Amino acid sequence: MEPVNLILLGPPGVGKSTQAALLARRYPLAILSTGNMLRAEVEAETELGLAAKAAMDSGQLVGDDVIVAMVRKCLEELAPSQGFLLDGFPRTTAQAAALDAMLHDLGQPLSVVVQPLLEREEVVRRMASRRLCRRCSTPTSVSPEAPVETCRSCGGELIQRPDDRPEVIRKRMEIYEQQTSPLAAYYQEAELLAPVNAQGDQTEVFERIVTAIEMYRLPHRLPAARSIAVNRINRYNR
Ligand code: AMP
Repeated sequence: MEPVNLILLGPPGVGKSTQAALLARRYPLAILSTGNMLRAEVEAETELGLAAKAAMDSGQLVGDDVIVAMVRKCLEELAPSQGFLLDGFPRTTAQAAALDAMLHDLGQPLSVVVQPLLEREEVVRRMASRRLCRRCSTPTSVSPEAPVETCRSCGGELIQRPDDRPEVIRKRMEIYEQQTSPLAAYYQEAELLAPVNAQGDQTEVFERIVTAIEMYRLPHRLPAARSIAVNRINRYNR
């Protein structure tokens, strides 16, 4: 089977990183999270990190050129048999076009663009209750009823991202609507978009995503099977 090359396209807080970690256990793929890469640069106080910090803390996007160069380097380093999962990239049409060109050069077509869908209020609620492990970046949800102090994965310290504060959350949602949500139409046009209902617990959502991925991995030379699969996914998600 060909490697699975995925994009998770959705607003911040929809559960992309949680699902990415689960998917990496099911498929041999590398998770490329531009947000995690940038946070590592900020933490290490590199030139790139220092330049990106202000934009990140205020919920703005970092410049396309910087991001595209970062992703290109990671993709070039992957073994040809290894798939990838892009989390948080592309976020603008310029990035999507640059990605198309990169993947064409590398001979690595996208398998599917999974779009987890969730009500806006639930997205905002999830973001406000999110904490990240300072050491391994695993996300955890906290609430007064379920207080958690350390990372379940590695025992590391949990921190709230500076951009998960309410005023910044609002800005990030606005930027998502303006700059990133048009990418759904872009990938729909390319017949790669698989919308998935992201309501429910993470295992349920994971199973829906796996179903969508498997449907899209059907051979391209079977267009009828593919269109049945797409209809089935759409019905399943209603
Ligand atoms: P995330 O963890 O994906 O929510 O990303 C955190 C922040 O990093 C975003 O709010 C942006 O400031 C920046 N960032 C991450 N990915 C990108 C991207 N593809 N393009 C521009 N900025 C990005």
